[in-house]
Amino acid sequence: MHWTQTFAPTLKEAPSDAEIVSHKLLLRAGLIRKLSAGLYTFMPIGLRVLRKVENIVREEMNRAGALEVLMPALQPPDIWKKSGRYEGASDVLFKAKDKQNREYVLGPTHEEVITSLVAGEINSYRHLPRNFYQIQTKFRDEIRPRFGLMRAKEFIMKDAYSFDVDDDAATKSYEIMAEAYKRIFARCGLNAMPVDADTGIIGGSLSAEFMVPAETGENDVVYCESGEYAANIEKATSKLPESDATGCADSDPAASAEVEKFETPGVKTIEDLEKDPYNVAANCQIKTLVFIVQDKPAIVLMRGDHQLNETKLMAFLGTNELRPAQDTEIFDALGAHPGSLGAVGVKEVPVYADEVLRGCKGMTTGANEDGHHIRNVSIDRDIEVKDWADFRTVQVGEPCPVTGEPLKIRRAIEVGHVFKLGTKYSEALGALYLDEDGKQQPMFMGCYGIGVTRTVQAVIEQNNDKDGIFWPVSVAPFHVCITALDVAPDGPVMKEAIRIHDELEAQGVEVVLDDRDQRPGSKFKDSELIGFPLRIGIGERSLATGEVELKPRHGGEMEKVKVEDAVGKAMEWLRANGFEG
Ligand code: ATP
Ligand code: MG
Repeated sequence: MHWTQTFAPTLKEAPSDAEIVSHKLLLRAGLIRKLSAGLYTFMPIGLRVLRKVENIVREEMNRAGALEVLMPALQPPDIWKKSGRYEGASDVLFKAKDKQNREYVLGPTHEEVITSLVAGEINSYRHLPRNFYQIQTKFRDEIRPRFGLMRAKEFIMKDAYSFDVDDDAATKSYEIMAEAYKRIFARCGLNAMPVDADTGIIGGSLSAEFMVPAETGENDVVYCESGEYAANIEKATSKLPESDATGCADSDPAASAEVEKFETPGVKTIEDLEKDPYNVAANCQIKTLVFIVQDKPAIVLMRGDHQLNETKLMAFLGTNELRPAQDTEIFDALGAHPGSLGAVGVKEVPVYADEVLRGCKGMTTGANEDGHHIRNVSIDRDIEVKDWADFRTVQVGEPCPVTGEPLKIRRAIEVGHVFKLGTKYSEALGALYLDEDGKQQPMFMGCYGIGVTRTVQAVIEQNNDKDGIFWPVSVAPFHVCITALDVAPDGPVMKEAIRIHDELEAQGVEVVLDDRDQRPGSKFKDSELIGFPLRIGIGERSLATGEVELKPRHGGEMEKVKVEDAVGKAMEWLRANGFEG
């Protein structure tokens, strides 16, 4: 390919709305262009990268035994009503109407479609297991589309769905997918690690997200240096020392004393109560949070120095219909305002308490009377707790639940997600089969997503420097850029450049020959910005000594080689750097 025959509009500066480096580079390198918020066109060079990532995904899915299909993006709403997600997913669902005023949703994901399909096509254990996948455009009405392809309103996903006879078989399918994912991201040149993930309101099942560590990621991953533990913060736990968990006043005789109300005028926060004259350490306080869960109030108790994890709460309660209560709702439920709330003596409102509080004595909490608190609270004795669970957000330095070493937290980009779904969708949409005894059973499902367009950008986020992108050979738009410094069509430089171009292409290498009539500096800059893995520079001066220059984009020095060795040397470098061909 000659540069002048493709279209690669590079930019010196990124548009000001591009905040993160990968987004800026996508635009500057001319790989994508924005239509409007969250909507992008893949330009010719960008599309080459996208296709490569897609092909890697496709090859590995096929290798893992999954079968490719292509489902409609427009979906009738009734299947969403049947699965029970029409309401729950309504904040991301794009809806459209046809001329008869019939409603459709634009698929944000395809569990409903594939399960309906399988319900009609497969009815015997003989035809299981099956795994179907597609690579297709998804639509999500994201509240805040941002960071380019990272969070778009329309994006390309690989989504796969497995169907099995029972839970064990489903686990096997899940593991096969998790292995395939490791291969996919490794082949894309990405360092992506599987981390335990929230299973959401479906609950109970197994779920892992594939995370690419990056400062600009939107997730926090809690992990242990040993490699023994990694989890999304929405799911992560830690092993707090026993002493930390029993609360405050074990050694304090007052701990067994009766509760005692005291005045705390103006005290509104945990910190207020830590100060003089009260001096109650945060870990000796009970924080009382009020939520409206499916239209009814509920209380959640946390230790004063701990943060609630709403995702854990939703998973525990089995609903995402919850929100913090407003002050008036709180007053109606408890008779006091935030700052003076407590659960002692509360009977009408269900109380959920964080595990860490179990057995805590000598605690201080609000009295449900404005400007008052109570001390000497022994949670087991004084509070009627409906359920205990882990509702806490892990903090840096807490002990790893596996090794006990201090946990770390870092930001990461979610590029993929594997999920054991159980029978929720198969039961709702009738994906049933007859087992060996002729008994009807629901299929056990799994779903597996990869954000293909997000993965393209994650590769850039992980592979860039001050000059631009450096693509891994496996997903590079072209493997080699030949920069011709004299572009006279019949001149010696172009003749040699074309020969090298043709010989490399004959060996399956993808080559772009920069035949633009521009200053060498700007041609070099563009090839560095777009990030072709290997550059071959040819000019009259170097040809005069019978040489050309080979320059790896990343991690290698420029090398002068004899012009007749250029192809051989380039092939050697490419093969050593992952070129398969
Ligand atoms: P997120 O938490 O980032 O919103 P999700 O958990 O809702 O993502 P899934 O339903 O698991 O996403 O979708 C599978 C994959 O699709 C994700 O792992 C991610 O890589 C990608 N993805 C999801 N939403 C978007 C989006 N708005 N833009 C680009 N890629 C996305
Ligand atoms: Mg996800």
